[in-house]
Amino acid sequence: MQAFANIPGGKVPDTHNSLKKLVILGAGESGVGAALLAKQKGYDVFVSDGGSIKEVYKSALQQSSIVFEEARHTESKVLAADEVIKSPGITEKNELVKKIRLKGIPVISEIEFAYRYKGNSKIIAITGSNGKTTTTALIYHMCQLGGKDCAMVGNIGYSFAKQVAEDPKALYVVEISSFQLDDIKTFRPDVAVLTNITEDHLDRYDYNIQNYIDSKFSIAKNQQAEDVFIYCLDDETTRKSIKKYNIKSTLYPITMSKELPQGAYLANAKMHLKWKSEEMQMSIDDFKMKGKHNQYNSMAASLAATAVDIRKEKIREALQTFETLAHRMEPVVTIKGVEFINDSKATNVNSTWFALESMEKPTILILGGVDKGNDYAAMKEMVTEKVKAIVCMGIDNRKIHEAFEDIVPSIVDTATAEEAVQAAFQFAANGDVVLLSPACASFDLFKNYEDRGNQFKQAVKNL
Ligand code: ADP
Repeated sequence: MQAFANIPGGKVPDTHNSLKKLVILGAGESGVGAALLAKQKGYDVFVSDGGSIKEVYKSALQQSSIVFEEARHTESKVLAADEVIKSPGITEKNELVKKIRLKGIPVISEIEFAYRYKGNSKIIAITGSNGKTTTTALIYHMCQLGGKDCAMVGNIGYSFAKQVAEDPKALYVVEISSFQLDDIKTFRPDVAVLTNITEDHLDRYDYNIQNYIDSKFSIAKNQQAEDVFIYCLDDETTRKSIKKYNIKSTLYPITMSKELPQGAYLANAKMHLKWKSEEMQMSIDDFKMKGKHNQYNSMAASLAATAVDIRKEKIREALQTFETLAHRMEPVVTIKGVEFINDSKATNVNSTWFALESMEKPTILILGGVDKGNDYAAMKEMVTEKVKAIVCMGIDNRKIHEAFEDIVPSIVDTATAEEAVQAAFQFAANGDVVLLSPACASFDLFKNYEDRGNQFKQAVKNL
């Protein structure tokens, strides 16, 4: 096996790579992006996807003369690799992955591969159970307003490797899922943000939260003193775990519970930001995004932007103009005094908790889908206080009934967005809210959370 040189960025093919067989498992956004970058850098690339490959990705591979297969994995070819890039969707339980591991072939993620070629560019990396996309998009908005040559990549939907291959930037704002962090080796962000850690994806971590926590903290494992680590002091799991990890970077916490000498905190309805000798204050009423969770996201983003020298006025402007993203507490419409909100992206208990926390009217909650190991106990108090009826929207709703039947007078089962919206509307009176915030993944009834949110919005409009 040959060692890889850490070659700086740019588009120069590296002749040393030509003998290296790089196999990419999975031809989605990240796999195809990695393939394009690898081809450009002169690797012997082979892409293998066990399912069918989308037309747009197939033609990208063909245009770059990259060899690929779909609907199968030719084991002999895969196991001949010097290195494998595994798409985040493929689990360690996959038989082929087990064989790759057994053979000792190094496995990396597309994030690690892109990092190898990012040159002198800076990286702000964002992970966490909830708030990644919102925080990433907000940081990007701040960086753009601040005039940075930057791109927003990663889990947010655009491949980091593809960006590095086709349009390198001086700064990358990278959203990273825990699956993408599982296979990093040298990845070292200049600024790392860990929004929070709550139970999610436990099915992929042997139902052991410690494995998931380790994965999240690995965002900081290669950081050095000159780097920055932003984290939430109010998040119990993060606070309890942080000491264990020997983080070398400079810590900048965020909190709502006390004043801090360095970091960001909320006091008297104002965000206070303290960065070295700089200080900034801003009233939370001036934030365009509402909700407590978004105040956390705003504090984290403001620190991250400050770390890359974005000026206070630009941060302020960004917070005043940044719109809520679709499917995240997205207002749909008000019908006969009943407000409908689409929070389809809430795929775990914690995000639904924050959604309910921000409700100021009696709420009919649409809940359910594929449960990734939910513990509904954490939601009980909030549900007691805010929810007048629950509409289950999923195939297996037993856990929801068990958790809430003593608290909520009305719980009904539905199996389509249309049924759920109609049932919720029947429970609702003038002045109520119907909130889709399922605390579960969507793939029992929908393609993904976007499909779920779109079907919900359509059903509301059909009322
Ligand atoms: P992610 O990319 O981590 O899934 P999103 O920004 O897409 O995060 O938000 C996902 C869900 O979590 C939405 O329902 C949103 O309202 C909620 N949410 C956003 N930020 C936070 C936060 N800091 N803490 C808890 N929930 C949050």
